[in-house]
Amino acid sequence: MTTMAQRTTRCGLCGHTQQDWMYTSTYACGAPDLDLRPPPFERDLIDAQIQRCGGCGYCAPRLDKVRPAARHWVGGPGYLRLLGDGAFPSLACSFRAHASIMLRSGDWRGALWSTLRAAWVCDDQGLPYAEAAQACRRTALGCLCEGHARGRLMTGSLKSDWLLELDLMRRTQQFDAVIVAARSSLPLLAGTEQAVAVQQLALARLGDADCHRVAPAGPDTYN
Ligand SMILES: [Zn+2]
Repeated sequence: MTTMAQRTTRCGLCGHTQQDWMYTSTYACGAPDLDLRPPPFERDLIDAQIQRCGGCGYCAPRLDKVRPAARHWVGGPGYLRLLGDGAFPSLACSFRAHASIMLRSGDWRGALWSTLRAAWVCDDQGLPYAEAAQACRRTALGCLCEGHARGRLMTGSLKSDWLLELDLMRRTQQFDAVIVAARSSLPLLAGTEQAVAVQQLALARLGDADCHRVAPAGPDTYN
């Protein structure tokens, strides 16, 4: 069961106080998407995962928590351009603005997940924001590569990161790169992880850039 509650938050940057809805409990039922987006009902609560301050525009999962990098960036012209970018839905702009703070904090993982949430918001809006969703995923892919170059993980393991990278490449129509990467990673994977790589390989060969859930495990073979 999903339960919601109103929360009063004081912005840690400007002191503005506002009320937002937050969920206090939820659950997920079914397989996640290949990019680890959770299944319903958790996936439907994405708008409760970010707050935007009505005073200064600061965006964060919790407005009372502030990274030092935010103090010199929020409210500046670059930040305001992100907040008002009409190429993206307003909620996606909030996630992208938060990602920009994470980037300036050297938090590549935080930047990736906030950018990926922006992509999910665009996905939910359908065709008019298809290009915006791809742009978010290209940025997320860059965060993953930058993070790996610095020895950071984006998920719980390097192999799980590989699978996320495959989906980001496939959703941005880099099908040849997916095929090469999937084939080289397959011998190093087993079980569910190998099945996901096989699924990505098959989708890439079909030129399929759509959203798919993790399929039930099939035979433990590939070619
Ligand atoms: Zn504020």
